[in-house]
Amino acid sequence: MSKQIDWSNLGFGYIQTEQRYVSNYKDGAWDEGTLTSDATVTISECAGVLQYAQTCFEGLKAYTTEDGHVVCFRPDLNAQRMSDSCKRLEMPVFPEDRFVEAVVKTVEANIDYVPPYGSGATLYIRPYMFGSNPVIGVKPADEYQFRIFVTPVGPYFKGGAKPITIRVSDFDRAAPHGTGHIKAGLNYAMSLHAIVDAHEQGYSENMYLDPATRTKVEETGGANFIFITKDGKFVTPKSDSILPSITRRSLMVVAEKYLGLEVEHREVAFAELENFAECGLCGTAAVISPVGKIVDHGKEICFPSGMEEMGPVTKKLYDTLTGIQMGRIEAPEGWIKTIR
Ligand SMILES: *Cc1c(COP(=O)(O)O)cnc(C)c1O
Repeated sequence: MSKQIDWSNLGFGYIQTEQRYVSNYKDGAWDEGTLTSDATVTISECAGVLQYAQTCFEGLKAYTTEDGHVVCFRPDLNAQRMSDSCKRLEMPVFPEDRFVEAVVKTVEANIDYVPPYGSGATLYIRPYMFGSNPVIGVKPADEYQFRIFVTPVGPYFKGGAKPITIRVSDFDRAAPHGTGHIKAGLNYAMSLHAIVDAHEQGYSENMYLDPATRTKVEETGGANFIFITKDGKFVTPKSDSILPSITRRSLMVVAEKYLGLEVEHREVAFAELENFAECGLCGTAAVISPVGKIVDHGKEICFPSGMEEMGPVTKKLYDTLTGIQMGRIEAPEGWIKTIR
């Protein structure tokens, strides 16, 4: 029985569900892992994660398709990305096949929290890992915990996707040769001041430029950029300090293979933006948020798609990708992992 939840009015917040997955790493090996009803974590006051922020995470969703299956979208790519994050943070990799199995197990154990088709709500899945034993001299921990919890979240856009206004940030998100390309908690910790400040100034998000030259577009705090040129090309920034969004990588395929657009994954100069017709932010949470205006220290860049609705090409991309996810449009091989 599905839970008695007002799915379409749910926000994006933590709601504790029945079961979560836990596996511990000790003496050089992961244990067999288990589901537990204990929603708390007890660790040393000196745990590596608490002292030196040795932690990374992932985010994906489970949802009900049109024909009533419960599925998730490309979890193998989350497994791969978490493995990349762990290597960069000197953490042990949780094997990629076990990662996908653990996602499936955790969703199965909370199946009543998967929102029904058409509600717009989804079950957000949060895998994460942290150093758990005492660390006081600066070095990687010896023991780690890998966990997955799920929480139902409401539709990202209530009453239509209105374009947002963002600003060019004076703060940087990532350093050259730093950790911008991995999903480390520390990337978010240091972006909090920038986003609180942006909100106080009336902007929805920060556009971060490349930290070395401040001339190229990187991404926002938690979403990659996509642009549509006036002659209908799909352009998305390439840089070693951008987090490789699975939504963005999927949209590149949708643009080329489903919509027949020319796709350019390349450096994007900030100076080019005024030539573009449409702009969007992409990530698991919203799929695509349309951007209507970018403010650079008082100078406004207004996209021709305006402030009322998504640009026409962005809308096609959005409808096609969400159609693939919801089972209304045939998916490329391996994109949909059926759980039930
Ligand atoms: C998670 C994340 C994204 C979006 O990635 P998806 O896989 O599409 O959800 C984009 N940028 C940053 C910095 C992120 O942490």
